[in-house]
Amino acid sequence: MNDPRRVSVLGATGSVGQGTLDLIARTPKDYEVVALTGGRNIDRLADDAIRLGARLAVTCFDDCYQDLAARLSSTGIEVAAGAEAVADAAARPADWTMSAIVGSAGLLPGLAVLERGGTLALANKETLVAAGPLVMATAARTGARILPVDSEHSAIFQCLRGEDIASVERITVTASGGAFRDRPLDTLADATPEEAATHPNWDMGQRITIDSASMFNKALELIEAHEFFGLPPDRIDAVIHPESLVHALVTFRDGGTIAHLGAPDMRHAIGHALHWPDRRVLPVDRLDLVAAGALTFAVPDPFRYPALALGRRAMEEGGLSGAILNAAKEAALDAFVARRIGFTDMALVVERVMDTMSPRAGLDDAAPSLDVVLAADAEARTRAAGIATTITRG
Ligand code: NAD
Ligand code: MG
Repeated sequence: MNDPRRVSVLGATGSVGQGTLDLIARTPKDYEVVALTGGRNIDRLADDAIRLGARLAVTCFDDCYQDLAARLSSTGIEVAAGAEAVADAAARPADWTMSAIVGSAGLLPGLAVLERGGTLALANKETLVAAGPLVMATAARTGARILPVDSEHSAIFQCLRGEDIASVERITVTASGGAFRDRPLDTLADATPEEAATHPNWDMGQRITIDSASMFNKALELIEAHEFFGLPPDRIDAVIHPESLVHALVTFRDGGTIAHLGAPDMRHAIGHALHWPDRRVLPVDRLDLVAAGALTFAVPDPFRYPALALGRRAMEEGGLSGAILNAAKEAALDAFVARRIGFTDMALVVERVMDTMSPRAGLDDAAPSLDVVLAADAEARTRAAGIATTITRG
């Protein structure tokens, strides 16, 4: 028998994190769980740490420390709290680490995995959006490996198995269109956070589900694909595909296109990254194209989804533009969820922030350093929050 693989799951209590633990828990003897991290859902974090025999459990919130420590007292499981403790957990040696944290809070822990030359299964797309050049350069320097977990990027990665990236002409990611695909345009301004947080096909965390309705999620994914696969912006597109069965298509220079299809279940992409380069049996529904019926595709309406053009702009501008877009988007999303601004205001806020910050200020040709990225992220958040307060809900 092989030694158990040492695994860590960052953001273990969220949607992707729970999907990851579901797969690990099916053959627990195959894994030694080094660290699990989470947020305020202490019951879930503690239960999972006990159930899977984790050595370390970390909440990213300092004020949750006592609660977690109380839940795990006399279990022998080490407990820690705070953002630094999450990055320290990521830095602990493990054979495979999932980053399923939401938001740019995933950047430092992801970099900690790459700095130790580890294998990073990356669901946290913000890591690549905010600091793609730095992240890829760090992986290249240390020999770390990044395995994409975002379903579209896992799909592209799978289409590229055995292929030469130089022979790729075009990458197309699909988008469901989110909760408001068919909602009358003139009612979008009144859409509530609850309405935006329902997804037609995928069961995901609240923030990414709202980002699917606005297509900020797809904007981030265009940038993610550009940073990870290295194709120029004009050779990466998004199309609407309401059935969510085709996840991405890769067109090669000989005119052939390879598509990746499957049921909308993140455990496929998670499991692919967990077992890569093997393919193991995974507990996901099998595709039945006859039962699925027609597969349809459409060009996204730029008036319904202004976020998409902002994503394309950030891809083209490069530099700090991804970090600025993402941080402004996170702040605008906070304001929308708190009902301080409307649904359609989110794109306005992000565009205003992008207009007022220079994506290349002070940069030479090298990848922006971590300090520069974090400063741009902080400034974009402050500006977005300020702009949001000037927008009054009518
Ligand atoms: P989620 O909200 O369900 O879970 C997020 C996790 O991150 C939780 O464990 C939470 O405790 C933790 N977390 C929150 N704030 C944190 C912080 N400041 N520091 C450290 N940890 C923090 O999110 P999710 O839907 O699972 O998404 C996670 C990531 O995966 C996101 O980047 C998302 O875009 C990406 N993703 C998700 C899906 C999906 O199906 N949910 C699909 C593709 C990509
Ligand atoms: Mg995706």
